[in-house]
Amino acid sequence: MAVLVNFKICDNAKECGGIAVCPTGALSWSDKEETIIIDNEKCISCGMCEKECPIGAIRVAHNDEEYNAIKSEIENDERTTKDLFVDRYGAVGISDFFKIDVADISEKIDKNYFTLIELYNPDFAECLLKSIPIKELTNDFPADTLYYKVEVDEAFSDFGISELPALLIFKNNNLLGHIDGYFDVDSKHEMLNKIREIIKK
Ligand code: SF4
Repeated sequence: MAVLVNFKICDNAKECGGIAVCPTGALSWSDKEETIIIDNEKCISCGMCEKECPIGAIRVAHNDEEYNAIKSEIENDERTTKDLFVDRYGAVGISDFFKIDVADISEKIDKNYFTLIELYNPDFAECLLKSIPIKELTNDFPADTLYYKVEVDEAFSDFGISELPALLIFKNNNLLGHIDGYFDVDSKHEMLNKIREIIKK
């Protein structure tokens, strides 16, 4: 019948699991428009895509009544992707919000407050679904803390980092410390403790 995507919370990424499992091509990715495309002529309401979406942005309707109810629910949804921060590394919608170039780092850290710079490589697919939401990582920081992410190649080792992804923590143009390597949701407390040690300095 029909699939609906709640783009208010969808991270609108090429790596969407719904696209990967859709047997009919009803969900696809457009490189040109950089968005998920829906073709409901092809949707058979099998529900496979819905199960793949970790945040419930993909919804499948089996009849007109369900379609209208889901549509109305989406229209009235007041959340945005910023409320979710489901992943931090590769998803287009969220990434673009914070993304800066390597060349812009020095300009961004020249501020009188905390600035977090996350260095990542988009080929590290593990990060896409399992990384710790940035909102949780910034719990201990003041409200005016800034966060940016920078795509770098695998060989990037500036700032003394040994491994990607890496989180650099700056204050007043000084690098207070960095955390290297990937921490998934199960390692959240380890990561948060490392952050606390750095910001105590
Ligand atoms: S319900 Fe099935 S056919 Fe329809 S978009 Fe989802 S996976 Fe594709």
